[in-house]
Order: sequence, then structure tokens, then C-alpha cells
Amino acid sequence: MTQTSDRPERTRIERYDPVSIEPRWQARWDELGLYRTDLEATARPKYYLLTMYDYPSGDLHIGHWYVKTPTDAIGRFRRMQGYNVFMPVGFDAFGLPAENAAIKSGRHPREWTMQNIDKMRRQLRTMGAGWDWDAEVVTCDPSYYRWNQWLFLRFLEKGLAYRQRSAVDWCPNDGTLAREQVEGADRHCWRCGAKVEKRDLDQWYLRTTAYADELLDFSDIDWPEPIRVQQTNWIGRSEGAEIVFRTAQHDHHGGGEELRVFTTRPDTLFGATFMVLAPEHPLVPTLTHPSRREEVEAYIAQAQAATEIERLAADREKTGVAIGADAINPINGERIPIFIADYVLAGYGTGAIMAVPAHDERDYAFAERFGLPIRRVVAAPGEEDRGLEGAYIAHSADERLVNSGEFSGLPADEGGRRIVARLETEGAGSAAISYRIRDWLISRQRYWGTPFPIIYCETDGIVPVPEQDLPVLLPDTVDYRGSGVSPLTRDEAFLTVECPRCGGPARRDSDTMDTFIDSSWYWFRYLSPDDEIEAVDRSMVDRWTPVDQYTGGAEHAVMHLLYSRFWTKAMRDCGLVAEDEPFLRLFNQGQILGADGERMSKSRGNVVAPDDLVQRYGADTVRLFLMFMGPWDQGGPWSESGIGGVNRFLRRVWTIVLDPAGIESSDPESGHLPAGEDEAAAERSLRSAAHRTLRDVTADYEGYRFNTMVAKLMELSNVLWTYRGTPVANGPAWDEAVRLLLLMLAPSAPHVTEELWSRRLAAAGTPWSSIHAETWPTVDVAAATETTREVPIQIDGKLRDRITVPTTIGTAELEALALARPKVKAALAGQAPKRVVVAGGGRLVNVVVGAGPGASEPG
Ligand SMILES: [Zn+2]
Ligand SMILES: [Zn+2]
Repeated sequence: MTQTSDRPERTRIERYDPVSIEPRWQARWDELGLYRTDLEATARPKYYLLTMYDYPSGDLHIGHWYVKTPTDAIGRFRRMQGYNVFMPVGFDAFGLPAENAAIKSGRHPREWTMQNIDKMRRQLRTMGAGWDWDAEVVTCDPSYYRWNQWLFLRFLEKGLAYRQRSAVDWCPNDGTLAREQVEGADRHCWRCGAKVEKRDLDQWYLRTTAYADELLDFSDIDWPEPIRVQQTNWIGRSEGAEIVFRTAQHDHHGGGEELRVFTTRPDTLFGATFMVLAPEHPLVPTLTHPSRREEVEAYIAQAQAATEIERLAADREKTGVAIGADAINPINGERIPIFIADYVLAGYGTGAIMAVPAHDERDYAFAERFGLPIRRVVAAPGEEDRGLEGAYIAHSADERLVNSGEFSGLPADEGGRRIVARLETEGAGSAAISYRIRDWLISRQRYWGTPFPIIYCETDGIVPVPEQDLPVLLPDTVDYRGSGVSPLTRDEAFLTVECPRCGGPARRDSDTMDTFIDSSWYWFRYLSPDDEIEAVDRSMVDRWTPVDQYTGGAEHAVMHLLYSRFWTKAMRDCGLVAEDEPFLRLFNQGQILGADGERMSKSRGNVVAPDDLVQRYGADTVRLFLMFMGPWDQGGPWSESGIGGVNRFLRRVWTIVLDPAGIESSDPESGHLPAGEDEAAAERSLRSAAHRTLRDVTADYEGYRFNTMVAKLMELSNVLWTYRGTPVANGPAWDEAVRLLLLMLAPSAPHVTEELWSRRLAAAGTPWSSIHAETWPTVDVAAATETTREVPIQIDGKLRDRITVPTTIGTAELEALALARPKVKAALAGQAPKRVVVAGGGRLVNVVVGAGPGASEPG
């Protein structure tokens, strides 16, 4: 506000000062328990609104605001629509960063974590979001992780958890990883980027593969297409056949061993002219001919020295050696030679392939190099005899089998099915489905996680910790430094235990669980965070889940978002919950990048601290600015250039509400209706604008189109601004438009609207009640669809005036409005007009006052 006004002293309106308003309302809402959800209440429909809970890094950044504040707007909007909204918040508090930070700073991970959580709770409060803090979960608390242990034991009972020794992915910093946590063609660690190696270890697995088909079914959930595609590809279902080849009799062994292969192309079986085994295949030592042994062993050693990625590289020269044994192709009895080659991996499929060089590029390259037969067995019409210059892969409907015995001439697909049927009758194969997904490896050699509730006894083997002994507490005083070995192995007091079965000496499992387990079921626990009897409260779970709306980053597509679906189904099969899916509707917000267009990071120095912005502009401005930036699913580089405009918008709303008469206006235009508009028309047009905005803003909230929602509210504020200081600003249309503006803005800018609402109530002598407890207003459809046009008014054929009227106006009403205009009245000077002509279907009014040339009717 200007301090240099030379106008006489009048009642000044207070300045908009978010820094004083916002904390006051936050405290008041807390005090009133406005967002504490009554989970038992059934009168209103439930709405479970969730954002991915946060890792307690200790600093809330703009990305947290970008996911949480629009979500809060959704929650407030749904509340006003009559839903019983539950919006809990919590912390994903176990995990490696705490351990690493602790190693660096010498502070215990628990201390580091809890201090960060305290700080983040304070930062979260500044958003003014309607969280139910009573439902908070913190996963490093034994009251949470004991149920990880309990659920793990249920899965173990159900056969959904098992222990197995195998070659696992190993990060030098993080220890074992799940397959989902190995990223990129160079196979780096998802967390630290280090190159991932292989190690042979005994580890715990969860049987995600048992749900592969069910996980491919998205029919009951509304999830973004990119996530569905990523999960589908990750699960990687392919249909084909498992075919059993048998080894041929040879001078060094009797033959008859089974070699199973999976193929998606059983139609090409007649083209299989050799087999390739992984060098690690268990039958290789048996099958290798003594004369080949030296070369074979040298090759195996060489293959093991190569990394998996080297072995799989498409452009790598194909190497291999014949082992001096043959297999029998079950469809035609042909003897075909067996090779080992490093492009076949033992851990994938059966570790053996049938090689069809005419129709597979790798096999073609291999056959060329070793001079092996290449036999075309699939061809398009007319191409049966054409030679091949490379593998023929195309697979279209009109292709037919050739060189395939009695199956020749059949369409390829049908031929494939008949070949499989034949194999089935002979016990040499069957239709089969293969998946890319593997079981979830959940053992981690780290300290800061949930201990496994497992004891190893020399007599009894694997013994689950009895339920009454849960939780197995994570000891506090472990030396957690160093990596490569579980820190808990250094804690004898923890490790040494009596076997619960035989009482003999036994040891605890020294690994901890993958922290993705914590996040696989936390939304169930929000419904009963303090329950000491049960993991989940079944009646609450039945009432409140699945989650109606879940929002978080798309980078979790094949980890958290897949694990959560698996875990829900596994809990269902243990009889703990009824539903199949965790989250009905998923939204992936975009990512806010640094101003330089790069990912925000401390090392780049491009991190935006929302705390500073809140201090400068207030939380409402920051919230609204983030929503106004662009479509919510897009994010983009940070730019503050628009934040001032958003702040000015809120100040304008402030002035519109508190100073409708324009007392403080210095605008010479204010106080006048727009040219051609009388008060009645102005009120109609204001009302129409308000309801049109309400109609559009309602749809925008529903569709999460927050940027256009804010733009429409800005337009409405502009319309109000033009009537400020005019007689319209005293009338009911103004009052209604202001009320609607505040109600529509309330979900997005909760503090300033609450403040203005309370002042309006006080001014009207009405007792206070929160704007956030109001009902979402109803659109007056007739008003919203009403549009106006400008009608010229002639007096004796000469243009004298213009009026703005609704397009729906009737002729009589238009005439009356025209005759009421001051200029027309003056021309009539108290006389009745000779004639009033409304022409062009209400597009022109001519008032005939006197005689003369101008009196002619317009054409
Ligand atoms: Zn790592
Ligand atoms: Zn025992």
C-alpha cells in the first residue's frame, strides 16, 4: 500500500501478510482437529488419498511440495464435495542413506533419522495441508517393523517366501540387490550407480513369479499407460513351447539325457540344426567328449571371466566350442551337434537353446562362423526357394512352413500349434509360457533395516521366531561401518540364541529386509498405526482400501508400484485383506528440475528451498504457483518468474473481498461500469462469469488440470475487479461471485481464503465456521451457459449508444432496456417514441423519435 496518499484519512484495509496469517490458521486447524478423520464414520463416502511417503532426508524440497500440495487441494475439494477424506502421512525411515550419513557423521542412524523426521514434520506443517497426523507411521519404529516380520512369517507359512543359494546381483556398496534394482545396459546399482557384480549367496526370496499373470491384469485399476507398459514388459510374458531334446548315444556316453529348451517359435523346429548350452550348464561335464575336454574347459574359464553384459552384447563376435556330443531333434529324429557358447546364460530360462539359424540373428551369426547348416523353414508365398542373406525374422499371417515334413504348407502359426501337439503326444514337449520376472530377493547385508525373524539351528535347520517373541529388535550398538558383510554378524549377543524348537545353540539371520518391504503395505497400517494385536485392522481395511488416489513418481514403476501389488495379493492369499489391488487410481506428477534443466541435487547447487519462498511469499502463493506452472504430470525446469504474478493475484483477491467499494483505489476508471453496460446487465454478466468459472473449475479439479483452474480463477478476479467501486459491488451478484471465488480457491490457497472467509462472516455478524467445512457450491447451469452480446442503439437511425445484454433476451425486454437508457430518455424528452424497431433478431434497436430521413427502418 502506498504511504504517500494525499487523500483524506479513511479506513484503510490491512495489508495481505501471509507470514502472520498462515501459522495462525495452521494452529487453529490443528486445535480443532479439522483433518482428523473419523474412520468409523459411514454417513459420507470414503476417500482414501495418499502420496508416496517420504524418505526422511532431513530437508523438504520443492519436489515434495509439487506432489503434496496439489494432492492436498484434491483432498480439500473432495471434502467439500461431501467425502470423508483420509489423508495420512508417514516416513520411510529405514534404508541406506541413514546408514551412510551415520557412518560419515558418527551419529547413530536412529538419531539421524528421528532428527530429520522432526525437522520434516515442521516443514510439512508450513504447507498447510490437511493431513491426519494421528495416523502417522515411521517404519524404523518396532511398532511398525515387527509387522514386517510377522507378515514375512505368514508368507513363509504360505510358501510365498523361501531361502535359496544362487548367483545374486551384488553391489560393492549396497550388497545384494533385487533384479529390479539393477539398472541400465551396463548393469549399475539403482541407488549408488556402482557396477553390479555376481555372488553366490544364501538369500531369502519372495515368490513374485507366482503372481506373474495376475500382475499383468490392470482391468480393475486406473493407472497411467506408461506404468502399465513398464510393468508388462518387466513381467515379460511370452507364449511358446518347452521342447525336450535328448542326447544321442555316443562312444563316450549312452545318451538319453534330457535337454529342455523354451522357444517362442515352435513352428521353426525343423530348422533347428544345432543346440547351444550355457557353458555353466550342469550336463556339460558329462556330455563333453574326452577329445574336446581341454578346449571346452578353457572356454568355460574364459566365459566366466566375461561379464553378463559383455556376453549378451549383440555386436559381439559369437564364440563357442563344440563339445563333441549330439542331440536328437524330437520332431524329425535328426542328430544335431551340441555347442557351448557364452551368449547363452545359465540363469535365464533353461540354460539351453535350440538354434534355428535361418530365423534367429544370433544363431545365424554363429552358424556362419562355424559352417553349420542353415535351413529355411518359414517363407512368405513365392519366397520358398529364395536364398537367405541373413536370418529371416518377419512373421506375418500369410507365411507358411517349408522343409518341415508333413507340416510343410501349413500357415506358420497353425503349423507351430500342430508341431507342439505332436510333441505332446510323444512326451517330447508342451505348450509353455515363460516370464522375464524373477522372484524378489529381499535379503540385504545392511544394518538399518528390519531383522529377519529367522533362527538357524544345527538340528532343526530354518526355524521361524515364534510369534510371541516378536519383534526381533534391531540392536542399537552394532558397528555398522564397512560393507560387504552384514553388520549384525559382528553382534554376538544378537546372533547367539537358543533354538525355540530344541533349546540347542542356534544363530539368528544376520541380514535385514529390503526396505521396499516397508513400503509394500504401509497404507494398510495407517488405518491402525498403534494396533499392538494385529498387523492390519481388517474391518478398517475392508472399509477404506483400496486407496482411491495415489500420487508419486513414475520412477517407482517396477519396484515399489510392482511390489505393492504383489504384496497386496500375497496378503489376500494369507487371508489378511480382501482386495486384489492396492491403489485404484495412480497419478505420476512430473519432476521439477533445477533452473538449469538438470535434476536438482545439492552437488549441482540447483536445489530450490521452499522454506525461503514461503518466508517471502507465503505458502498459498507457493502452492498456487506450483499448480499454475503447467500440467501436473509434466513438471519442468524451475523458474520463479511467474511467482510474483501469482502473489499479485492473491493480493487482488484480498482487495476485492475487503475493499469492494474501491476506497483505496487510485484507478480513475474504477467506479464506472464498462461502457454500454447498465447495472442489471452488469449483474447478469458477473453472475454468468462466476457460474461459468465454477463449472469449469469443478471439472478442472476433477481432472487435476490445476494450471487451467488457476487461470480461470484469475479471469474471474479480473471480472470482479472491473466492477469494484461500482454500484454492482454492493449487490447480490457481487456477493455471490466473491463467495464462489473464495470457495473455489479454498482447496488450493487454504490460508488466505480461510482468513477472508472469517472476515466476511464477522462483517455479516455470522458465527465463524471454517471455509474448509463448507459444501462445494452448485453450478447454476442457466447462468453459466448465458452469454452476452453488445447491441447498438440508434435514435432516428443514428448510432447513439450500446448495451450489453444476454443472448437469450426477449424483444420486449430489449426494448424496455433500450428505452431506459439515459441518452434515449433525453432524446425522447418525456414523449413516447413513435416506433421502436428491434431488427436482426435482436442485434440492433432503432428508436424513432421524430420524422425525417433517419426514420426509415434499417435494411
Ligand atoms: Zn549400490
Ligand atoms: Zn533346534
